[in-house]
Amino acid sequence: MIASHLGRPKGRVVQGMSLAPVAAHLAGLLGAQVRMADDCVGDGAAKMAAGLRAGEALLLENLRFHAEEEANDAGFARRLAALAELYVNDAFGAAHRAHASVVEITRHLATPASGLLMDGEIQALSRLRESPDKPYVAVLGGAKVSDKIDLMLNLIDKVEAILIGGAMAYTFLKASGVPIGGSRSEDDRLDHANAILTRGKNSGVRIRLPLDHVVAPSPEPGAPSRTTPGPEIEDRLVGLDVGPQTRAAYAAEIARARTVFWNGPVGLCEVPPYDEGTGAVARAIAATGGFTVVGGGDSIAAVNRLGLAARFSHVSTGGGASLEFLSGVDLPGILALADAAPNAGCGR
Ligand code: ADP
Ligand code: MG
Repeated sequence: MIASHLGRPKGRVVQGMSLAPVAAHLAGLLGAQVRMADDCVGDGAAKMAAGLRAGEALLLENLRFHAEEEANDAGFARRLAALAELYVNDAFGAAHRAHASVVEITRHLATPASGLLMDGEIQALSRLRESPDKPYVAVLGGAKVSDKIDLMLNLIDKVEAILIGGAMAYTFLKASGVPIGGSRSEDDRLDHANAILTRGKNSGVRIRLPLDHVVAPSPEPGAPSRTTPGPEIEDRLVGLDVGPQTRAAYAAEIARARTVFWNGPVGLCEVPPYDEGTGAVARAIAATGGFTVVGGGDSIAAVNRLGLAARFSHVSTGGGASLEFLSGVDLPGILALADAAPNAGCGR
């Protein structure tokens, strides 16, 4: 039996978030019959579970159609647990959530276990968190500083350098007093950005900001773009990618590294030509031969477009869970497995 979250239906049945299309696709991947229960608990699901034959799978409908899931409700967890004899959690991407199917259910089934993806994520991210080969360099880009403040504070104790790109770079540049024209910045995070820069300086960690940019009057495809000579951006222009000086400087930092963690594209990588900085970073990381991890949906999509996924040591699909893990948080889903079965997960 397979149970999963899909989207954020907030405890109500939302047809567009049904797992039915997943059942069809999964059947193709498994080459097996995948039955679909229209609710994850209750008599219908129980009957289908009891009627399963060897080699068949049963996909339960979206767990989040029940508000009790996110409430980590014991009664709901017990009803789910009643369908099965064993429990394997392979949803690393949900391990930062104390939800019924993640945490409470481990109290109602014997010897809960971690799955292969869960183990792979824990192993790779534990290596980053606990024993990275030095030099360790982090590359952080993407949309928002606010997503990554705790991560950066934790990384400062571990890395030699943090290379910043993407839209979040403009908040850091603005905080440092560099004009950023019309580029996106999170003005309510300027203090955080400054605190991180100061922490880096005090710890001897190089926190590097873009030296130049690719700019245009707007992010629309086809808008005339050009490269700035330095870090400043004129009024009425927006920064959309790191420029060639930045790409070269970051590639040189990456080439010296034995461990690299990368999260977040360094430019508006869905819109060519603003994908070139992200391409340069991805190629530099793939070329190191060290231990390399990429995380984040948009970053992974970029790596896949470049055909470079196989050249990374680990592609972390955990999203927010990966970032929390690397921020130093013990994730409730992993703790629950470890509490219930001391040999499961946790860097085995
Ligand atoms: P990930 O999914 O890899 O964790 P994020 O979701 O944090 O990354 O951010 C990715 C998004 O940030 C992408 O859609 C990308 O286009 C956008 N982005 C990066 N740099 C810029 C920029 N300079 N201007 C606008 N958007 C940007
Ligand atoms: Mg994203």
